[in-house]
Amino acid sequence: MTARVLVVDDILSNVKLLEAKLTAEYFEVITAFNGLECLAKMDEGAPDIVLLDVMMPGMDGFEVCRRIKSNPKTAHVPVVMVTALDQPSDRVAGLDAGADDFLTKPVDDAALFARVRSLVRLKMMTDELRMRESTGQGMGLIDPAETLIENNLQGRILVIEDRVESVAWFSSALTPTHEVSSADTFEEALVRVKGGDYDLIVVSLGMRGFDGLRLCSQLRSLPEGRHVPILVVVSDGDRRKLTQALEMGVNDYLTRPVDKNELVARVRTQLRKKRYADRLRHNVQLSLEMAITDQLTGLHNRRYMSRHLDTLLDNAKKNARPLAFVIMDIDYFKQVNDTYGHDIGDEVLKEFAARIAANTRGIDLACRYGGEEFVVAMPDTDMAFAFNIAERLRQSIETTPVKISRAPHQLNITISIGIAQAEGEGDDADKLLHRADQALYRAKRSGRNKVVTDAAQAA
Ligand code: GH3
Ligand code: MG
Ligand code: MG
Repeated sequence: MTARVLVVDDILSNVKLLEAKLTAEYFEVITAFNGLECLAKMDEGAPDIVLLDVMMPGMDGFEVCRRIKSNPKTAHVPVVMVTALDQPSDRVAGLDAGADDFLTKPVDDAALFARVRSLVRLKMMTDELRMRESTGQGMGLIDPAETLIENNLQGRILVIEDRVESVAWFSSALTPTHEVSSADTFEEALVRVKGGDYDLIVVSLGMRGFDGLRLCSQLRSLPEGRHVPILVVVSDGDRRKLTQALEMGVNDYLTRPVDKNELVARVRTQLRKKRYADRLRHNVQLSLEMAITDQLTGLHNRRYMSRHLDTLLDNAKKNARPLAFVIMDIDYFKQVNDTYGHDIGDEVLKEFAARIAANTRGIDLACRYGGEEFVVAMPDTDMAFAFNIAERLRQSIETTPVKISRAPHQLNITISIGIAQAEGEGDDADKLLHRADQALYRAKRSGRNKVVTDAAQAA
């Protein structure tokens, strides 16, 4: 794994030392010697991780960290504070500033590489989502995910530990802010994670009854557990277990004896990251939906219809069921735009789409096919039935004026409709569409405000 590391320290020899170690492990290193230079390099250098000295003249490391974490462009970049201080209270101050982890000077190589690799690996997963989200933003209207530090986070936390006193300690430290439950066997832990909607799992690596690391690896492979952050608790000095846990993809760790404030701060950091990742995933899902949805009306768009109609036709063929295909077009719609303006035209389109949706069933596929042209594919529907639905819709449009936001506040419009039905072997989406379009054309030609079926043409 390669990554770009930004090393920040006011003392040249400290920078050189870390740079040498990281370069030897094939990391790319960029450097800064004070807070302002660091903030500038966050922008130009786009580092994957920052190793940040705490004590610097001018702006100290805590302040630099706060600024990195409160800028939406850089908040997702992990920050490791490198410090000579090693009191829980210093760590809590760092965590409150948004830091992801700590290394104490002199920096131990194994700890350095384990932290850097684990945080970079976690960042890469979020980067993938961020990339897809930004494509979604570019294509549509979704908001960028909230990245800034939120401090009043509450979550559902599962503590996996088989020593009663320890469970009680975790529960009292985390409640009432969080909702805490616990599991004390391997099986119960799996069942709970599969069934529960947890925001964080705390796994003790010092249990008597079973191996916490083996459980972590199982949890990572469960669909329900994959996106839940894991915080492991190791005995002070158990480096080997900690390294294994970080390599397995656990998100963070605490060492015993656990400091309560540090626990609270690390839990908060993990909840914030999870919330961010959830938002990203949600936005990616949303952008997928938006790619197949018409923005103005909320109906499916043409792209989706083109794809899906083949499947509907195949199913109709396979099951020897009818399929009706309806095309609708507003009569003299250009006049609406010309007389009242394009925005009023849009209002009419929205209202028309809503009426189509209200008059079709859940299994019908309604789409905005073009400007003021809408289509509905109706599975399991023969021509006579489709004609009735179309005729009902035509009448309701004719008799119930469309409301608009400006005078005259309502408009009388009419629509023309063409219907075709699937014809089994040899038929395809293009032909079906063409037949429906021909029927629509005849409806227009014969005076508009009409429903015309393709069969009528044949007759
Ligand atoms: P016909 O009865 O033959 O269908 O006449 P028409 O005026 O409805 O038909 P035509 O196809 O000539 O015009 C359709 C108009 O729809 C032209 C275009 O400006 C308008 N249109 C297309 N897309 C949109 C849109 O998204 N919003 C609005 N307001 N108008 C649109
Ligand atoms: Mg029209
Ligand atoms: Mg038209």
